[in-house]
Amino acid sequence: MSVAPKPEKIRCDACPVMCYIADGKSGACDRYANHAGALVRVDPLTIIEGTAQKLVPFLGEGAAQDWDGDIVQGGRPFVTAVGAGTTYPDYKPAPFIVSQEVEGVDMVTVVTEGIFSYCGVKVKIDTDRFIGHERDVVYAQGEPVGHVMTSEYGSKMLSLGGVEHLTGGTKSEGRATCAALLSLCNREPVAVTIGEGDTATHVVIEAGKPPVINGDTEKLMRVGCGSATIGMFARQWLGHVDEVVVVDDHITGVLSEHEAGKQLDLPPTGIKIKGRRSTPGRYFQVAKPGTGWGGTDIEEPLNILGPFNAKTARPGMRMLMVSTTGEQADYFELDQDLVPRRRPMPAALQSSTALIAENCEPSVCSVLFMAGAGGSLRAGVTENPVRLTRSVKEALTHVSCGGAQTYVWPGGGITVMVDVLDMPTGSFGYVPTPALVAPVEFTLRVSDYRALGGYVDEIQPVEDVTSEGLRRVAPNGQGHDPMSASHYRWDKGAEE
Ligand code: SF4
Repeated sequence: MSVAPKPEKIRCDACPVMCYIADGKSGACDRYANHAGALVRVDPLTIIEGTAQKLVPFLGEGAAQDWDGDIVQGGRPFVTAVGAGTTYPDYKPAPFIVSQEVEGVDMVTVVTEGIFSYCGVKVKIDTDRFIGHERDVVYAQGEPVGHVMTSEYGSKMLSLGGVEHLTGGTKSEGRATCAALLSLCNREPVAVTIGEGDTATHVVIEAGKPPVINGDTEKLMRVGCGSATIGMFARQWLGHVDEVVVVDDHITGVLSEHEAGKQLDLPPTGIKIKGRRSTPGRYFQVAKPGTGWGGTDIEEPLNILGPFNAKTARPGMRMLMVSTTGEQADYFELDQDLVPRRRPMPAALQSSTALIAENCEPSVCSVLFMAGAGGSLRAGVTENPVRLTRSVKEALTHVSCGGAQTYVWPGGGITVMVDVLDMPTGSFGYVPTPALVAPVEFTLRVSDYRALGGYVDEIQPVEDVTSEGLRRVAPNGQGHDPMSASHYRWDKGAEE
């Protein structure tokens, strides 16, 4: 009896790992598989349909089921690099080099899934709560994956990933970093711990969702710092109260001393604020950072006050203390000994605190992918890579990620940032080197592509782009059109 020969494994050459893959199995990254001896990209090639149309949300998963194979139906298509595959080593032409005529101009898009060791995310978390000091380490799965950068106006900023964590530490640090980046970029929640020991803060980050800080879901982003809040709402407090203190970890505002109070002729109240006085009515460091009022560690606002000055204060004086989101507020009146006593808040002040809350935006996490596309992947676009870099700088080549608008940093290289929420879902993958896989498209005129030494013989018309199970999505909410002439220098009448 003859025994059927065991099917041979095939070798995937799409990244340096070079997996041997058995029939019916997928490689280490789950992006490539062996289908009856053929190496196939598992995820479908994603095409944005109707890029000339604006403000249509993504069709979402399952849209591909409606796909009838007519690539030009419903408007101009844009072939993204999502599901396009990678070429390795880099000198081979990119997987798809696609041309189409756009408003009388022959355009070409070079499409590839880049493998990025130099990549990470910048995360903006809208919250006043303390989540860590500048330079505190951020841990995921117990491994260091990034750090706290600074605070922006109403937000905390984190830098996660980057080559130092992906390849510069231990193997498990690299793996944990890659896993955290992949989940964040694909809009999944990631639990991190910031700092160590008693001061460690636990945060769940998910793009487009409110952060969960030590188990509490954040609701509002502050309306402004304490001083700005005084400036915005001073007029509404006039006649209803003698003093207002807006408690803020950064700048606590005091109405009677603030320029806004002066201009409204509010008399001094004899209030004493603990903390470092800046300009009139503005105080720094009234308490430690924390998760209490206005991002401080206080739960009892009176703790930031010293005794009232008996020469100025008088019994019965009315005082509102409120946080920068309006979520915490208390009303006090001074007794005969000039001690503030908590009283029911008058209706007019309740409305004003509600107005502060109403003026706060919802708290969300924003995740921006940042990577260097100015390295070896340029060789898949042109045999003379520096010409691509120059072409991008000269606004002859437009860079997009999954069809989404990118910000290209000034200076050398092609360092891009993109909001992951603008990209199709599931845009990112990984390889176990470890590195992230992200879609990148370079779009330019065919004539410019030829001039920079591009692989013009590899160009195929967009109508010929066929791939099993094409996934079709609509333009994102920004309606960004990578092929719009407005991106290019030649449309602005600049000299060629
Ligand atoms: S990790 Fe993925 S891309 Fe790399 S060789 Fe294996 S299957 Fe191919």
